[in-house]
Amino acid sequence: MWGLLLALAAFAPAVEVDLGAPSTSVLGLATTKAPVPTPRGSPAQRSAGKEKGTSEQHVRIRVIKKKKIVTKKRKKLTHPRPPVTARPSVTTSPTGTLDLTEKQEPDCPPLGLESLRVSDNQLYASSSQSFGLGPHRGRLNIQSGLEDGDLFDGAWCAEQQDAEPWLQVDAGHLTRFSGIITQGRNSIWRYDWVTSYKVQFSNDSQTWWGSKNRSSGMDAVFPANSDPETPVLNLLPEPQVARFIRLLPQTWLQGGASCLRAEILACPVSDPNGPFPEVPVLGSSDSLDFRHHDYKAMRKLMKQVNEQCPNITRIYSIGRSHQGLKLYVMEMSDQPGEHELGEPEVRYVAGMHGNEALGRELLLLLMQFLCREFLRGDPRVTRLLTETRIHLLPSMNPDGYETAFRRGSELVGWAEGRWNHQGIDLNHNFADLNTPLWEAEDEGLVPDTVPNHHLPLPAYYTLPNATVAPETWAVIKWMQRIPFVLSANLHGGELVVSYPFDMTRTPWAARELTPTPDEAVFRWLSTVYAGTNRAMQDPDRRPCHSHDFSLYGSIINGADWHTVPGSMNDFSYLHTNCFEVTVELSCDKFPHENELPQEWENNKDALLTYLEQVRMGIAGVVRDKDTELGIADAVISVDGINHDVTTAWGGDYWRLLTPGDYMVTASAEGYHTVTRSCRVTFEEGPVPCNFRLTKTPKQRLRELLAAGAKVPPDLRRRLERLRGQKN
Ligand SMILES: [Zn+2]
Repeated sequence: MWGLLLALAAFAPAVEVDLGAPSTSVLGLATTKAPVPTPRGSPAQRSAGKEKGTSEQHVRIRVIKKKKIVTKKRKKLTHPRPPVTARPSVTTSPTGTLDLTEKQEPDCPPLGLESLRVSDNQLYASSSQSFGLGPHRGRLNIQSGLEDGDLFDGAWCAEQQDAEPWLQVDAGHLTRFSGIITQGRNSIWRYDWVTSYKVQFSNDSQTWWGSKNRSSGMDAVFPANSDPETPVLNLLPEPQVARFIRLLPQTWLQGGASCLRAEILACPVSDPNGPFPEVPVLGSSDSLDFRHHDYKAMRKLMKQVNEQCPNITRIYSIGRSHQGLKLYVMEMSDQPGEHELGEPEVRYVAGMHGNEALGRELLLLLMQFLCREFLRGDPRVTRLLTETRIHLLPSMNPDGYETAFRRGSELVGWAEGRWNHQGIDLNHNFADLNTPLWEAEDEGLVPDTVPNHHLPLPAYYTLPNATVAPETWAVIKWMQRIPFVLSANLHGGELVVSYPFDMTRTPWAARELTPTPDEAVFRWLSTVYAGTNRAMQDPDRRPCHSHDFSLYGSIINGADWHTVPGSMNDFSYLHTNCFEVTVELSCDKFPHENELPQEWENNKDALLTYLEQVRMGIAGVVRDKDTELGIADAVISVDGINHDVTTAWGGDYWRLLTPGDYMVTASAEGYHTVTRSCRVTFEEGPVPCNFRLTKTPKQRLRELLAAGAKVPPDLRRRLERLRGQKN
């Protein structure tokens, strides 16, 4: 997602986080003699607070009991799988009371404040400054809108007068709470963050007990944030089994308010005797490798798929990242390694923003799935692999990904790992071809003098000192080498499909509806993905951050959202034949690995259905009438659409079109132009629309002369006659 990163970076570079030092978590560092604050709220809650002494004792016994059960269970479950949530380096407390045996257990996964698995009505607070700063906004990595003070602010903030603020999460059932991650408020106008907090637990939201320091037995005060964005993890000295958890800010930035965004780490607990139902398991019926894969693991997995399905797969690299990591592509087709005449080429590109990790895993899952289903003889997959050549690039920015992966899915924050190693945002790094096209259009030069397609790279872009990332160059060369027809570019951090143009036509406009001549096709392509993605279709889902895209069918014109000059989509459309949209896959850029089965189910059908859209429209071969040989680089123009496509080396072409009647013209240098009508129906295509072109006399003459032949007298007379007519 593009979001406000640029604005943020420009406004407050300090906000963009010191990326060097890992955030440390300090366990049981500070103790305080202050009594546990009586929670504000209903009178019932306040009086419940007074009875704390007795209830606490009672609850503690329960906790110990529960823990015994849990420990037994965990022995079975704790298996060789490496923990994916990267654990930050842990500093010991000054008193040296850190218990290392506790630390060796794997972290619990997030409860789902960030992923929205925790719904708004599970979040409560002692008070809120406004609705837009309500408890439902207290989610890790939530992003505010451009303005403060609207319904979509970037944190939960307690009222200024609230002396004992708290944010409460109802897990809905008994849970083993093991840690808390906090951030400050996301805003480009204000600084607010909490510098320390206490934690309390409850089974009924009436009686509460606190997290204690082991050594002193006092309420633990956890050190929290020192900037708005860096997520800070605190593991509890002693995990607690309960249903409710409260964060009680103790101190916050001077002059600011008690504002935070949080995620809770919590392991499911089975509670056969308890009143709470079993935790529903979000899963997938496909047995695939649902993990996050770093560079080496990704390479290994791709190799495994290649070994399982050698006849339909081929691995190749399109170049190297700045740090020298290869940009691997998995090609999947019935004839891997070659372009078959009439078979369209499609691609998925993921991870151009390295910290948007879901797309990478979805492509790794897709290649496993296609291989397995092909071996099982699934007709849909078999047809897809037979009729199309699929290229999957899971990681366009592997350097950025490694950075994000090392930090881990919960602690990577919103921005770290987005850029390549040179600090370049790859989605702003493609050549801006929009500006030269639009300038030529304004002067009335398109398409007669300046083409409306395959615009050349501007001279400045190819200079040795031009700031073009190696990853960008690799993809440009790839686009030029393979006649791609259709693509999607997988991002994360929102839930929407955005289509070109990504750049506003009015210079400096922050956003403006900027459709391409192929608006109908792009809207259709976007709607197909959004309409088959389960999360985008969920009527109960809440907006990720500050836009409710579900109001518009979860699709949007890119420029109408946020202008992006030099985007990959715009470049793809203006420099090649390929139509490409951006898919923002999920609110959470780097979902925890336990979300991957659910995300796969959300996207599986959409990923397949989108690729099948390459059948929409017309396709055919442009041939020389005499020789029957295909004509490369012939231009296919559709009446009424000011954007042409060209034929591949064999003369084959694909023109994506929505249903309707079209006048289609094929032209090639040295040939007479031919126009014919082609009807695209709602039936599955593509509709064949072939052309046979005759050479012009001039071209025949040229070829004869080039072959060293004398011009036959009749042709010479004809040419002279033609010349006379013209003059
Ligand atoms: Zn992105």
